[in-house]
Parts: sequence; C-alpha cells; structure tokens
Amino acid sequence: MIVRHFIKCKTCGHSHTLRIQVGHEPYQEHTFQCFECEEEIVVGMNCNPTTASVQIKEIQNCVFDSEEGTIINLSPEFPIPKEDLHRDHVFPSLHHVQAVSEMQRKLGVEAPKFSSFYEARAWALKQKGLNELWPIVKKGWSLTSKGKLDLAAETLKQYREGQYKEPHELRYVLFDFCCRILLPLKYHLFEDAAVHCQKITKNHISEFQRFRSFFKSRMATENLDRRAGLGKLDSDISGKAAL
Ligand SMILES: [Zn+2]
Repeated sequence: MIVRHFIKCKTCGHSHTLRIQVGHEPYQEHTFQCFECEEEIVVGMNCNPTTASVQIKEIQNCVFDSEEGTIINLSPEFPIPKEDLHRDHVFPSLHHVQAVSEMQRKLGVEAPKFSSFYEARAWALKQKGLNELWPIVKKGWSLTSKGKLDLAAETLKQYREGQYKEPHELRYVLFDFCCRILLPLKYHLFEDAAVHCQKITKNHISEFQRFRSFFKSRMATENLDRRAGLGKLDSDISGKAAL
C-alpha cells in the first residue's frame, strides 16, 4: 500500500507530494533532501494494521501542505530505482516482491496456506518485524549474561508468542532470530554449520568435548557479550538503512 501526503519545505517553501510505501513495522521514519534547496527533511509515520490506517507527522524542516508538488517516492524496506524516485503512479517494490517470491519458490520455501482472507489477515497481524523482535532478544540476552535467568525466561517467552515452536531459551531464540535476518539466501550457512557440527561430534568426539569444555569455561561469556554488541550494531545499521 502506498499513501500520499503533501508537505512543504520550511526552508524554501517548495511543495512535495510524498508517496510512502507502508511497511511492516509499526513506525517508520524517512529522511530525504528537499528537491529544491537540498536541505534535509524528516517525516515519520505510525502504521496501525488493525484499522489499515496511518498517521504521518512532519518531524524536521517541513510542514503539512494542501497542494501537489514534486513526487518523492519513499519505502522503508526496498531500494527505489533512480528513474522512479520522482515518478507518479509507480510501485517500485513490486519487482523486489516478485524477485523474493521467485527465490523462495526456487528454494522450496512454502508460503503458508489460508482458507479465507480473514485467516490470512489474522496471521499477518501477528507477524512481528525484526525491529520489534530485537528489543526482546536484546533484553533476554542481557539478562542471561548477567545471570538473571528467571527474568530472562520471562522476557524470552514474549518472542514470537504463539508462533514459535522451539524452547524459549536464549540459544534457540538467537538461532531463530539470526535465521530470520538471513532468510532466504543465507539460511544454508546455518544448515551447513549444523551438519558440520553433527559430523564433528560423531567423528572426533573427544576433541570436540575438549573444545566444548574449553569454550564453556574460557570463551562463552566473553563471546556472548561480544555478539550482543554486534547484534546492537546490526540493529543500529539496519535501523538506519531502513530510513
Ligand atoms: Zn527546500
């Protein structure tokens, strides 16, 4: 879905028609340059999937306008081809969605089946984006590394509530979260690593156990902290990339 919103640049008064693709996150924010004076403009949008409605707010260097202006296409999830940046009546995400579906089909990823539109809609409303899942993972991770396991368990229970079949323990949740970041093209990295580990445990059992106890006693805590830092970095980067 694309919503249309009119704004005027506060610096030079140039009018813009924003065509904003509604993404999956409850809030999205976009930063772009004024078409005329090239000063930075920021708008935010709250999305309410239950009522299929949005509220757009002018955050920086712009005010609401009542007139059509230069078209600015914005998307929180997909890059927009240069030639489409200022074109009206285009749906730039369509090629990407088709490419993703095609790749899923090639990889044998099965789309969920629904018996009615309402069932599909109820399913879609329950889906959480990575930006919504990350705070749960981050808090569960932080509490686990501080040894507050009861609080960590309470937090991790909220991870994809009702949709997640594995134990709500940090290592399982982390595995699922990382897979979701890398789906569909890089999922094989996890599968290959799991197969590799299975082989090692069969063929080199004593060496593997030695490494396991070394890892647990000397490296596990530090690794957990370092990876939490990387997770934060990833999240910050992906948050900025989505702008
Ligand atoms: Zn301007």
